[in-house]
Amino acid sequence: MALRLYDTYSRQVREFEPLQPPRVGLYACGLTVYDYAHIGNLRTYIFEDILRRTLEAHSYDVLHVQNITDVGHLVSDADTGEDKMEKGSRRTGKSAWEIAKFFTEAFRRDLAALNVLEPHIWPKATDHIAEQIALIQCIEEQGYTYLTSDGVYFDTSRLADYGALARLDVEGLQAGARVDLGEKRNPTDFALWKFSPPGEQRQMEWDSPWGVGFPGWHIECSAMAAKYLGPYFDIHCGGEDHIPVHHTNEIAQSEACYKTRLANFWMHGYFLVTSGEKMAKSAGEFLRLQTLIDEGYDPLSYRYLCLNAHYRSRLNFNWEAMDGAATALNRLRQHVYGWGAPGPADETALDRFMAAIDDDLNTPQALAVIWEVARGNLPDAFKKGTVLAADRILGLRLGEWAPPETEVPETIQTLLAQREQARAVKNWAEADRLRDEIRAAGFDIIDSPDGPQLKPRS
Ligand code: AMP
Ligand code: ZN
Repeated sequence: MALRLYDTYSRQVREFEPLQPPRVGLYACGLTVYDYAHIGNLRTYIFEDILRRTLEAHSYDVLHVQNITDVGHLVSDADTGEDKMEKGSRRTGKSAWEIAKFFTEAFRRDLAALNVLEPHIWPKATDHIAEQIALIQCIEEQGYTYLTSDGVYFDTSRLADYGALARLDVEGLQAGARVDLGEKRNPTDFALWKFSPPGEQRQMEWDSPWGVGFPGWHIECSAMAAKYLGPYFDIHCGGEDHIPVHHTNEIAQSEACYKTRLANFWMHGYFLVTSGEKMAKSAGEFLRLQTLIDEGYDPLSYRYLCLNAHYRSRLNFNWEAMDGAATALNRLRQHVYGWGAPGPADETALDRFMAAIDDDLNTPQALAVIWEVARGNLPDAFKKGTVLAADRILGLRLGEWAPPETEVPETIQTLLAQREQARAVKNWAEADRLRDEIRAAGFDIIDSPDGPQLKPRS
């Protein structure tokens, strides 16, 4: 079956063909590591994980690059305000370098708990300053930049198709933004390099041909994607917020220097919202994966919740939906466990599952196929073979689950030991009394060759 994916650039579902088969270059915009990831961010990484697993299921040789934004992402997308890293540093009292390390590690733990496969390459923006400067020089040589008192800017009016990805109404924006442009020539112009504020030493700053400062947010992705995947590669992805600004500007930079539009497919995961509002780190209050764990949820229940919605629709988070996902995942796990040893996959059922996935990663439909298999009348071994094969894409670790062993409280263990002593001295009345007490506490005593065992009464 052919894999068909929605491409934001052309606004259509297109058949996916690698540019250089069997290799597939996949670039995902990474986290800005000034705080923990929220579950909205994690929804986007789960979508990208399904994409990667699907490409691998098609036997492509995927090279997955995901950057770590540890400098240059300013509080405002309009290139004003503080750097988020320096802000995070002030908030926590740790250095910008320390918080980058701390939150990167926390992010990796979240991804592992969600069974999101690690990218093959995790480049950090601060490790690629030279590459970013070289790219800005290239853009400058092509005549797309101008200098202001606070940095080097990209002149978006020089690119005829600027904003094509987002279908931006550039003229409308221009007309509406007469005020507050500062030294910017056009409202959509953006910083490639920002100077450190006069008289101030930033924690993160570097020398450059234009002056001491730091790279703008967008340049890191163009520079690192080109370094690891080449100037034109297969798929670039991120969340929907990246369409009008970040990815639009990445395309402008790469077109200016390399004369390519960076990626063949542009894919975007839609937002997780709560009561209609976008979840955002900058809003202060947000839900982390750890919040869900503290509330007693398995992280994979959150993965299930995300798979139950298509990545191209917004997902409204609430606790009822979370409970529903946890219950469904548990039922599925119990089915899978109960089926015993796996046999081969049923080809017809597996084809139906793959047809849903190949239809622009329709995970809700794919889960529906799994439930039909679970409730249907295939022999158990076939059911299990099919569901485990599907789980290579779903990533719910369905084959690893086993019912938790009930822990026997210590008080009951003590009663059992006392009963054994009573029996040893042939005090049958006392032994029976202890057995009844253990039963009343909810446990049966099963005599086995290894001695008496306690089993919860059903
Ligand atoms: P950031 O740390 O802001 O650079 O975001 C990391 C990733 O999460 C990017 O791909 C964003 O587009 C994505 N993202 C941000 N907020 C949300 C949200 N509420 N729901 C889904 N994805 C999001
Ligand atoms: Zn990016």
